[in-house]
Amino acid sequence: MYEFSYHKATSVDDAINALDAAEDGKLLAGGMTLLPTMKQRLAAPDTLVDLAGVQGLSGIEKHGDTIVIGAMTHHADVSRSELVRQFIPALADLAGMIGDPQVRNRGTLGGSVANADPAADYPAALVGLAATVNTDKRSITADDFFIDLFETALEENEIITSVAFPVASKASYQKFPNPASGYPVVGVFLAVFNEGVAGNGNDKVRVAVTGAAGSVFRQSEMEQALEKDFKPSCLEKIAIDDEDFNDDIHASAQYRAHLVTVMARRAVKDIL
Ligand SMILES: Cc1cc2nc3c(=O)[nH]c(=O)nc-3n(C[C@H](O)[C@H](O)[C@H](O)COP(=O)(O)OP(=O)(O)OC[C@H]3O[C@@H](n4cnc5c(N)ncnc54)[C@H](O)[C@@H]3O)c2cc1C
Repeated sequence: MYEFSYHKATSVDDAINALDAAEDGKLLAGGMTLLPTMKQRLAAPDTLVDLAGVQGLSGIEKHGDTIVIGAMTHHADVSRSELVRQFIPALADLAGMIGDPQVRNRGTLGGSVANADPAADYPAALVGLAATVNTDKRSITADDFFIDLFETALEENEIITSVAFPVASKASYQKFPNPASGYPVVGVFLAVFNEGVAGNGNDKVRVAVTGAAGSVFRQSEMEQALEKDFKPSCLEKIAIDDEDFNDDIHASAQYRAHLVTVMARRAVKDIL
């Protein structure tokens, strides 16, 4: 490791002030991505601003038709939450499938979302459920939040405070995990909103895919087909365009395209 300053923030404002004062400051959540990245010299911030002591950034609450989860909430807490299990069980399932127990007990929702790893699980839930990312400055819809590989709509020194997930009528997350890392080779989050998504348009079916391409995306042909006829068989004829898909030692683009259909079909069966 090289030298850097460590600041334990006491509030969101204190964290922002510390970031503003630093030349190249970075927020520290659970350190699950940031610390290995620093050890590999892929990032070299001069200041780490730890959010672990900031009150009000973790916890899970129901506000009307949404479940609001604090940015510093650990994956293990989401997976075990009775509120999430009751209202969005697919989200609790997803959190319980992330990595291993150590990662689930340290990794956070905000860290995962800010990092925007193309193979992370949470982005599929955010886009599938039409969630809203709340920051210290504004609210951003999930559709506008994830831009590209490790790129989000967050501005410099902007802090995610919570994510609001609309309660779907039904939802399912199906993942084909990489056997070594646990990250999805492909994951599909499918959500059905009988009345459309409150405050977020009239989408009744949303299909979000992670792991396949540089960033999470919606599979609109599947959404349209499932809105007309909610059956696994209606997905068979939809050709998945794999031109921009990831093609690496873990899976070819063609195999990932195949997995998109298989995972989506499983999600429909699970919901039915
Ligand atoms: C062995 C291993 C296996 C894993 N398997 C999976 C898996 O199967 N699926 C999966 O989805 N993920 C997986 N992960 C990732 C894990 O889920 C973590 O959530 C992710 O690494 C982010 O870690 P963190 O929350 O500790 O954030 P950190 O590493 O502390 O931070 C990550 C980035 O987010 C920024 N950041 C953190 N909090 C905020 C905030 N509130 N606002 C703005 N920016 C912020 C930081 O500055 C940093 O740039 C795995 C990780 C490991 C190490």
